[in-house]
Amino acid sequence: MDTSAVDVVIVGAGVAGLTTARALSRAGVSVAVLEARERVGGRTLTQSLGGEAVDLGGQWVGPQQRHVLRLADELGLERFPQHHHGTKVLDVRGELRTYRGQVPSLPLLSLLDLQRIIWKLDGLAKRVPRERPCAAPRAAEWDTLTLEEWKQRHVPTWGARAALDIATRAVFAAEPSELSFLHFLFYVHSNHGLMPLTTIEGGAQAERFTGGAQALSLRMAGELGPRVHLSTPVRAVLQDGDGVTVTAEDGRAWRARYAVVAVPPALAERIDFGATLPPERRRAHADLPMGSVIKVVATYERPFWREAGFSGEAVSDTGPVRLCFDDCGANGHHPALVGFFLGETARAWTGRPSEERQRAALECFARFFGPKALKPTAVADLDWIAEPWSKGCYVGLPRPGTLTAIGDALRTPFGRVHWAGTETAIEGCGYIDGAVESGERAATELSARLATSGAGASRSRAV
Ligand SMILES: Cc1cc2nc3c(=O)[nH]c(=O)nc-3n(C[C@H](O)[C@H](O)[C@H](O)COP(=O)(O)OP(=O)(O)OC[C@H]3O[C@@H](n4cnc5c(N)ncnc54)[C@H](O)[C@@H]3O)c2cc1C
Repeated sequence: MDTSAVDVVIVGAGVAGLTTARALSRAGVSVAVLEARERVGGRTLTQSLGGEAVDLGGQWVGPQQRHVLRLADELGLERFPQHHHGTKVLDVRGELRTYRGQVPSLPLLSLLDLQRIIWKLDGLAKRVPRERPCAAPRAAEWDTLTLEEWKQRHVPTWGARAALDIATRAVFAAEPSELSFLHFLFYVHSNHGLMPLTTIEGGAQAERFTGGAQALSLRMAGELGPRVHLSTPVRAVLQDGDGVTVTAEDGRAWRARYAVVAVPPALAERIDFGATLPPERRRAHADLPMGSVIKVVATYERPFWREAGFSGEAVSDTGPVRLCFDDCGANGHHPALVGFFLGETARAWTGRPSEERQRAALECFARFFGPKALKPTAVADLDWIAEPWSKGCYVGLPRPGTLTAIGDALRTPFGRVHWAGTETAIEGCGYIDGAVESGERAATELSARLATSGAGASRSRAV
């Protein structure tokens, strides 16, 4: 067996794994990063479309997201504001409504109801400890309840119900019936409240990276150089009294004092951790399935929607595109729209030919902004459900009953194995921000353990 020895092996070269590796490496710790895909970045992916960079994975950041903003500044990445001026489209109950500003065009009673539930949900979310959602005062009750059931009981007007459904799909890429109410509240708290989660200006969709979000990972991987091993899917992370042996599917193995697993729990399920993996952690791997999203980007000769007074933002309860934004480059050059198939519409369209999905998306854009949408210069889409190393996106979603059953298992180290990834974040869970936070936390945990054990790779035993 070909075995290399390092202090820490990191599984996964998404933002979380690379943040861990970069922090440890800068502290003088020897690392190896093993990545299944032939590229870094995981759930961020930037591609060239019509000669310009477009993001087919994660793309926006907001002012509350201090971890990713700090990292981006360190890496020297530039950002620009997401365009949001103009008329917005609300496609609800088969009727197209338009509005400007933050208040959707709904009946007055629905608007009052909507404001009331935003206050109510924000208030309840603050009662769920971000560090330990299972310690919330009504955790057991809220974890067995779905968001759909809560809505049926507490939201009387059709407009507020429709708005909650639309917002849920946009934020979670899932249906309200799939979400534990406890997890929904935790997620809102972890991400600074409902309005920051759902808005552009001042919210989580405020800015984009010039050149795309994958640059975060590409720059970190550039710093790490040959320590990052691509096309290296890990099949086993097995430990003994002296260290950890991490084995790739092709049989190559790395021996280390510690390992950090920075893959979503649903992907960790494929890895053999040995018979002593605690049942709570096994449950986390089995019961945090990923959300469902397909992303489509279309480029155009001209930003015809802006010229007609539209902002490019549209939400729909019909689909298949449930959410649409202006996706032009900085200063409006490179005109583009981006659309999302979310939850049940993503599941209905997964696995179908790309051209069919792209045509369906263009028809939605045309419904929102007019027939010029049917004449793009280029189109690209990515079906994240069909990606074997993601199995869906944006994020792993605990099934009802799971958060209280697994307790602290998402972050509690298993012997010499530590955990990172946005699903393990206290702040920014589900977002790139959470991936960075989790990577920094894992690096801090490992630095402390290495400092007390005082050993380096040179003393690691190669098998
Ligand atoms: C369409 C879409 C839109 C999004 N929009 C936004 C947004 O606008 N803003 C935002 O902040 N976030 C957004 N997100 C979410 C964001 O991209 C993620 O939260 C973040 O990138 C997660 O990073 P991570 O490192 O935790 O996980 P990942 O990126 O999933 O990294 C895990 C890595 O582990 C690898 N891996 C898995 N199994 C193995 C194995 N056995 N062996 C070796 N390697 C393995 C994977 O290939 C992957 O590279 C979006 C995601 C998607 C898909």
